[in-house]
Amino acid sequence: MAKKYKYVTREYKRENTIIDFGDLKIGDGSFVVMAGPCSVESYDQLMESAAIVKKYGGSFLRGGAFKPRTSTYDFQGLKEKGLEYLREAGDKYNLKVITEVMEAESIKLVSQYADVLQIGARNMQNFHLLREVGKVDKPVLLKRGLAATIDEWLNAAEYIVAEGNHKVILCERGIRTFENYTRNTLDLSAVPIIKQISHLPIIVDPSHGTGRWELVKSMGYAALIAGADGIMVEVHPNPQIALSDGEQSLTEKNYKELMENLEILLPAREKLYSGDTGVK
Ligand code: PEP
Ligand code: MN
Repeated sequence: MAKKYKYVTREYKRENTIIDFGDLKIGDGSFVVMAGPCSVESYDQLMESAAIVKKYGGSFLRGGAFKPRTSTYDFQGLKEKGLEYLREAGDKYNLKVITEVMEAESIKLVSQYADVLQIGARNMQNFHLLREVGKVDKPVLLKRGLAATIDEWLNAAEYIVAEGNHKVILCERGIRTFENYTRNTLDLSAVPIIKQISHLPIIVDPSHGTGRWELVKSMGYAALIAGADGIMVEVHPNPQIALSDGEQSLTEKNYKELMENLEILLPAREKLYSGDTGVK
C-alpha cells in the first residue's frame, strides 16, 4: 500500500530537520538530554529537580503540569501553577522547558510557558489536537502511541507538518506488547527505521519505555548508540515519594552516572554517524 504521508519523508526532504533553539539544536548530530520529574508536584520539588538536571549537563527540563493519568483519582497536575514553576526553573537554570499539552483549548496557555509542546502517547491520534499544534510556531514533541505502528506515528506527525509546523520531534517511549516484565517494550529499532524514512529528529524515552529505573541507564546508552538525537528521562529528588512514576525515576546519583557514561560513549557515536544524514 502506498504511504499516505509525504512531508515527513526523506523523499520529500533529504536533509535532517534541525530544530534550532539558538544556543542548542536538536537533529544536528548532537545528543540532547531532557530530564525532570514526571509531574511538577511543588515549587521546591521542581526547583530541586531543575538544579540536578542542570548540574550534570541536561539541557531541557521536563515535567507535567497537566497529567494524563489512567485513573481519574490519581494526581492530575498543578495546571497553570505548574507551568509557572517550570518557566521560573527553566529561566533560573538556563534550561529549555518541555511539557505536555493535553487539549487544544490549552495550547495557547501552555505555549506562553513552554519551549516545546509535548503530545503524549495517549493523544497521538487526537487529530484535532495535532492540527491545532500544527498551527503554532513552537516545536512539538510527538510521543509514539501506546500501540501505534511506525506508519501510524508518521501519519500523526504528518497532521502537524501539513498544517505548517515543521518543527516536529518524534519520541519513542515504548509500545504495548505481550511482555509485561517491563511497563512497555522499548522499540529501539524504531530509531534507525525513522532515520531511514524520515528527516525528523527522534529522541528516546527509556523511563516510560521500561517503567523501571534500573533499566533506564542501559537503554539510554543504547539509544545514543542507535543514533537517537537525544533522550528524555524522569529524574526526581526523592523517587520514593513521587506523586507519579517514582518507580521509573532516577535519583540524583543515578542521573549523574547516566550523564557521565553518555559522555564516554559520545565519541563512539560520532564515529558511527559522523557527517551523514543518518541513512546508511
Ligand atoms: C510523560 O512523559 O509524562 C508521559 C505521560 O508520557 P507518555 O505520554 O509517553 O505516557
Ligand atoms: Mn511519567
